[in-house]
Amino acid sequence: MQAKKRFGQNFLTDKKLLEDLANLINVVAKDKLLEIGPGKGDLTKNLINVCDSYFGIEIDKDLLVFLRNKFPKNKNAFIDGDILKLNPSEIYASCQFRVVGNIPYNISSPILDWCEKYYEKILDMHFMLQKEFALRCAGNEKTSSYGRLSVICKYLYKVTITKEVSKEYFSPIPKVDSLFVRFSPKKKEVNQIELQNLKKVTGALFNKKRKKISNSLQDILKKESINNLDLNLNLRPDELSLNEYLQISKLVMNDG
Ligand code: SAM
Repeated sequence: MQAKKRFGQNFLTDKKLLEDLANLINVVAKDKLLEIGPGKGDLTKNLINVCDSYFGIEIDKDLLVFLRNKFPKNKNAFIDGDILKLNPSEIYASCQFRVVGNIPYNISSPILDWCEKYYEKILDMHFMLQKEFALRCAGNEKTSSYGRLSVICKYLYKVTITKEVSKEYFSPIPKVDSLFVRFSPKKKEVNQIELQNLKKVTGALFNKKRKKISNSLQDILKKESINNLDLNLNLRPDELSLNEYLQISKLVMNDG
C-alpha cells in the first residue's frame, strides 16, 4: 500500500523500536487507550492486547480495512474518522484515558490543541513528533527552542523527551528526525481564565521576540501595573520563566 503524503504517513516497522516505544508508554492492564493514526497497526499490536480498552482513530479508509482484517477480534475498536473532530465522550463517556500515537506531523499543533480541549479527560499523552517541534514543546528559558509553545506546554504538562528516533526508522524516510515525547498533565483541571491570559501575554511578548519586554508590556498592561512588576524590564521574552509569565498574566487579568 502506497503511503499517502496528505495524511502524513511515515510508518514504523522496526520490531525492537516498536517494543521500546511500547515500554516507554508502559501500558498496563487497567489502561484505556486512544491511538491516533494506527496506520498499519505495527505499534498497535504492542498495545491492543495489553490494555483493558483500546480505540484507534484512522482517517485513511484503506488502512481501516487493513486494520480490521489484521485485528479481526478488535475490528470495532477502529474508528473511521478525523481525530480533530472526535468527541472522546463517544468512546470513553465517563472515564479518563491515555493518548498515544506516531502522529501526522502536519497536524501536531491541532492535535495538542485537541488534547488541551479535553485536558481533564486525558491521563497522559505519548507522541512521536518532529524533533524541532518536540524541542519547542520541551524548551526551557534561555535556550534557542524556548517560545510561546514551551511556556504553554510547561504550564499544562511535565514534558519529557523519552527517545530520539532517527529518520531512517520511518518508511518512507522523511526529511526530519523525530523525538518520542511524554506529556503528563500537571493539573486536575485547567483554570481557563489564567490559561487564556497566559496565551495573551506569551502571544504579545513572543511576537516581538528580539525586543526588551518593556517594549511589549505597554501593549497589554497599564503603566502603573508595569511599575508594580517585580521583574527586570530589560529582559527578552525568551529569558522569562513560566512563573514570571504567570506574574504578568495576573496583572493583565487585574487590569481587565
Ligand atoms: N501508527 C502508524 C505507524 O507508526 O506506523 C502510522 C503513523 S503515520 C505517521 C500517521 C497516521 O495517522 C497515518 O496512518 C494516517 O493515515 C493517520 N492520520 C492522518 N491524519 C489523521 C487524522 N486527522 N485523524 C486520524 N488519523 C490520521
